[in-house]
This record gives sequence, structure tokens and C-alpha cells, in this order.
Amino acid sequence: MEPVFIKNYTLPDLESWVESIGEARFRARQLFRQIYNRRIHCWDECSDLSKMFRAQLEFGTHLNASRIVEKQEAADDTAKYLMALHDGQFIETVLIPDPPRCTLCISSQVGCPFRCKFCLTGTLGFKRNLSTAEIVDQVCQVQHDQGTRRRITNIVFMGMGEPLANYASVLRAIRILVDPNGLAFSHRRITLSTAGMVPQLRRLGKESPVNLAISLHASDDALRSELMPINRKYPLSELLSACREYPLPPRKRITFEYILLDGVNDSAKQARELVRVLHGVRAKVNLIPFNPVDAEFPSAYRRPSEERILAFQDVLQRAQLTAIIRQSRGADISAACGQLVAKSSNSGGS
Ligand code: SAH
Repeated sequence: MEPVFIKNYTLPDLESWVESIGEARFRARQLFRQIYNRRIHCWDECSDLSKMFRAQLEFGTHLNASRIVEKQEAADDTAKYLMALHDGQFIETVLIPDPPRCTLCISSQVGCPFRCKFCLTGTLGFKRNLSTAEIVDQVCQVQHDQGTRRRITNIVFMGMGEPLANYASVLRAIRILVDPNGLAFSHRRITLSTAGMVPQLRRLGKESPVNLAISLHASDDALRSELMPINRKYPLSELLSACREYPLPPRKRITFEYILLDGVNDSAKQARELVRVLHGVRAKVNLIPFNPVDAEFPSAYRRPSEERILAFQDVLQRAQLTAIIRQSRGADISAACGQLVAKSSNSGGS
């Protein structure tokens, strides 16, 4: 029998599974709480289960879906974890302390199917989707590693991969993240970022009230299609209609991420165009000055001067659009946006 990865199961799934192996249904909640509230790291730590049940867990299931193989800490306290999965693949997860917050940036795929021009993860190509267990376990493993030192307060799906291209597993992971008997995060503390898969975006709006971020990066179709090939399938008009119709909770806004690329998308004219395309959307803009990718992957793009960055922000602010400049974190360990390739620091390859 194939071993079961227990963190694939939401609480209702676990109830069915527990019954299927002949245990009482209420055991599922007990087990779920042990895994996520008590944060056990091996089945031996499960104290209040019968010996028989423990043996079934021990021999028939995997509690952990990944294992930390390396941790790099940046000067600004950002920590990048390299995680090994059961089939020998690797992913990265980044912890970003920013007191009083502490955000965990998690991956949803090994590699990524979208080849956005400025993003290093895209150069890996797509290897596979992560399972629900592999998504949830990133939170569990980092929490376990941090112990009482740091408590994760926010989760962002902004690591490797496109979360909406792995919709079912990501949504189940969110269910476990927000279950009060599970990891007990509020939806308000979870943000999903997408390159703009419109049908899945519409579905997400109906199924989960997590915060939404859209990687926009250009305000006209010609440039956006060049930077982000997915725009050829779902052009700006379709993406922004879905955003206008998105069922946002009161006072909530959609975050639009906009990488500033020197001389490419950072002119005052393009800023005015951005204001125009976001008209009627409850929006705020995160400007991300481009992070140079690694020397092994020379890039055609550069970070604009401080002056150009501020001038771009100024146009948005004058139009009453909230625009913040997101300072990249962890750049000295290649943990910043678009720099994740699951490469060990000493192996020189992934
Ligand atoms: N696929 C999803 C999730 C990844 S989020 C998405 O596209 O939204 C990672 C964020 O970092 C995205 O906004 C991405 O566009 C941005 N990014 C990628 N490469 C970058 C780089 N070199 N510099 C700055 N931001 C980058």
C-alpha cells in the first residue's frame, strides 16, 4: 500500500480516512490538532492516541512531506530554506521577519510553467505541481525550525510557481492553513499572487476570501505580452474585468505588483497609463524595483535610478492611487522576488 501523506488531508478528508482504517471519526480532530496545534514533528510525540492507531500512522503514513536541507540567513534577517521533497526535487521557502510581522513566502510548484522574462524561477521550466502536503509542510517545517524564536504571522504564495496553475492543491492547503483546528491563520493574513490566470481567478473569488495580488508589470498589452507570455492568453482587458468584478470584502483592495525595469516600463507616460487601466478597480500598487538575477543568468534588465522610481510613484500618488515601493529583502542570499531557483549554496546547481 502506498504510504499516505497525512498533510494532504483537510479535516473532513482526515475524518473519512480515519474511519476507513477502522478508527472512530472523532480521532481525526484529535489527530489534526496534534499535527498543527501541538506541532508534532514525529509520530512518537503523539501522546494521547492508542498504540494500535499510532502503529498505523507510523507504518502507513508520512507525517512530513519535506525536509529542510539548507538554511541561509541574510544580513537583514531574511532566511531562505531549501527543502527536499520525497522524489528528490527541491523547493525554496523564504521567511521575512518585519516586526511585528513575520511573513513566510511559500512555493506552489517545482519550477514554473510561465516564462516571465525577468524571473529566474521561470528559467527552470516546469517540473511539477506541489501536493497539498508539500505546500502546508513548508509552514510546519519553518515553524518547527524557528521554535519559539519567531512566530509566522502572514503567508504569501509568492515563492516558486504559479499558485492558480495548481488550483486544487493550493485551495486545499489554504483550507488547512485557516482551519481553527489546523494552522489557524486568518484569511486576512494569507495573500495569493498570480500572473493572471483569469478563469481560476474568478473561481478563487467565489471560493476563498484570501487577499489577492496580481503581477501586472506593464500597462499595455504589447509590452505585457513580451514580458509575461501569459498575457497573450489572458490580455489586460480580461484580467482587469475579472478584477473589477472580484467579490472583495468591504474595505479590501487588490494589490498590483509592478516591477520597475529601467527604460522598459518605468516612464511617466507608462505611470499615467497604469492609472488609466486601474480605473474602477479597488487597487493598491506595490512597486518592486527590479532585483538583478544571478550572474549565471545575465539579464537584459536593470533597476531604475532612485529618481525614476520616485517619479513613477509620484504620478500614481497624485492620481490618488496608493503606491508603495517595496524594498526587496534577502537579496544577498538570492531570496528576493524572482530569485528562487532551489539551488544549494554549495552545490552550484539545482
Ligand atoms: N507566479 C505568481 C507567484 C510568484 S510571485 C506571480 O507571478 O504572481 C513573485 C513576484 O515576484 C511576482 O510579482 C513576480 O512578478 C516578481 N518578480 C519576479 N522576478 C522578479 C525580479 N527579478 N525582480 C523583482 N520582482 C520579481
